[in-house]
Amino acid sequence: MREKQTPVGGKLVDRTLKGREKENAQEGAKELPKIKINKDIEINLEMIASGVLSPHEGFMLQNDYQSVLDNGRLAEGMPWTIPITLAPVGDENKETINALKAGDTVALVNGGNTAIAILHMEEKYTQDKKERAEKVFGTTETQHPGVENLFTNQGNTLLSGKIDLLERSNWGPFEEIRLEPQDTWRIFYEEKKWKTVVGFQTANPMHRGHEYLQKCSLEIYDGLFINPIVETTRKAYFRNEFRIKAYEAALKTYYPKDRVVMAPLRVTMQYAGPKEAILHGLIRRNFGCTHIILGRDHAGFGNYYSKYAAQELYKEYDEELGIEPIFFREAFYCTRCASIATEKTCPHSERYRITMSGTGIQDILRYGYAPPKEAMRPEVTQIALQGIQPKGVDTNGVAMNPPSDTIKGLFPYYLTHHRLGGYPRNKKLDPEKIDIRDIDNALMDARENATKIYRDVYDEITHYFDLSRNISERQRTDALRDTIERQENLITALEEKVKMAEDNVHDPFMYQDREEAKKELKVTKKILKDLQKPLEPEEFKERIWNPMDFERYRHTLDVIGEVCPTPLIETKRMMADVQDGEELLILTDFPESVETIPMWAVKKGYDVAIDKKGKKWEVLITKKTKKPK
Ligand SMILES: [Zn+2]
Repeated sequence: MREKQTPVGGKLVDRTLKGREKENAQEGAKELPKIKINKDIEINLEMIASGVLSPHEGFMLQNDYQSVLDNGRLAEGMPWTIPITLAPVGDENKETINALKAGDTVALVNGGNTAIAILHMEEKYTQDKKERAEKVFGTTETQHPGVENLFTNQGNTLLSGKIDLLERSNWGPFEEIRLEPQDTWRIFYEEKKWKTVVGFQTANPMHRGHEYLQKCSLEIYDGLFINPIVETTRKAYFRNEFRIKAYEAALKTYYPKDRVVMAPLRVTMQYAGPKEAILHGLIRRNFGCTHIILGRDHAGFGNYYSKYAAQELYKEYDEELGIEPIFFREAFYCTRCASIATEKTCPHSERYRITMSGTGIQDILRYGYAPPKEAMRPEVTQIALQGIQPKGVDTNGVAMNPPSDTIKGLFPYYLTHHRLGGYPRNKKLDPEKIDIRDIDNALMDARENATKIYRDVYDEITHYFDLSRNISERQRTDALRDTIERQENLITALEEKVKMAEDNVHDPFMYQDREEAKKELKVTKKILKDLQKPLEPEEFKERIWNPMDFERYRHTLDVIGEVCPTPLIETKRMMADVQDGEELLILTDFPESVETIPMWAVKKGYDVAIDKKGKKWEVLITKKTKKPK
């Protein structure tokens, strides 16, 4: 049996002050030095206070900070990959910070000057942002949103120590569905009595690849905990309300209600790829999850991290994390399988696939189209189309990314094949020359053909193999019969033409000589040969035969290898269904049966005939209308 899950460090941190304690702290805060904090810090304070970041009770001390950067572990060795720090910016704060010393108590205030939390400062130290960027993100390039956020929204001086939260912020439209770890532990384990819970984090409306990963997990584990992220440092994304509503729409229509819990997660996404994926696992464990789904490029951005870097890093920490990762390959829709699949489950090539790049789907929405139904559920699309940011296209008619990225992201086949599942192009398309018309074409192809491919295979097979023609497509047979008839007429005419043709003609543009006429005839006959025979219903008659009467299949009892008393019991059972005048044939190799069965049958007044076939017997009983003696 599975051991009971525990939060990271064994105990859920609670640093939220309530009642009297809170009132006193609020009163005291008026006299304290004040530091203005931004939204990101407010989010972190709430996460610490509610236990989302257990075992942290505040912002990291320097030895933990350095150890996290250098070893991906806290100073004492516990896995932790991203620093939890307080580095306020702004000139006003600068003066206050300069005056602070270890042991001071500080009020952290929001824009409206309300004290949100109290910091019990233990240490003040300087961070090297370049080093942090390099070690957390693996890059110092500012086009990486996490790096940019570090460089512009964080100061150089870090204040560390435990915190006490005074004010929980209002999450606006999400306040009602907000869940904190103390809620989720209760819901998962006390209310729902789950033993296993799989966490899934997302920053996008659900596409069908996500749905597949979630449902594969639900086939095995008890519950699913979905966390749409409601903060993001990305510039192009879906607005939060739409993202949540899109998820609700998907869950309502496609998921059993009692197996899924959804709660928005307020965490500032940093796009630190594998390192952030580890943090996400630890966070999920603090919510009570036993498992976490890891797909392709978890918490990644652009091409900064390899597709499965997060999965590799999980393998390094292994059981130490206390949450089990479920690794998935990239999911796609295979039109030949007619289902979502991954490379692990589908043998077909890319020419059949609609792939599910998140950014590709976003650009399709910006162009103003519903993505293929194979990639996104229409119920989700309805909301996603309204929540995409930015909307529409630029002055050149292009969405966020080059059209070729969208083609590669959703329709990779299009570069090499004329259509989904179709024949290869003579020459691969040059991605440079892909434009928005290609997106139209590929999308139209997907709409027309994605469901048709498997259907065509089915139609072809049923046309030739359905033995009953009751529901067959008669027009196919009719069309082929008529086509053959036209071809035969043409051949007759051309045979006449060959007979009449001259060896040499004076105007080869107008008349054909015998050689040419023969060539025409030959090709026409070849086409006739290529045309198959129309399958009229009577063609199927010879496919149906049986070596014995049908009744015999219905009324034959095979008890070869069965010993007393089974053959007799079975005989009695089957004879109950045999009508007057009908026969039951019993096949047995048990000598005693050849005595007991006929004895019983004769007593019942039935006719019995016994035939010995080598070491076996055939006992034929005929039910007769006359009453038993
Ligand atoms: Zn397939």
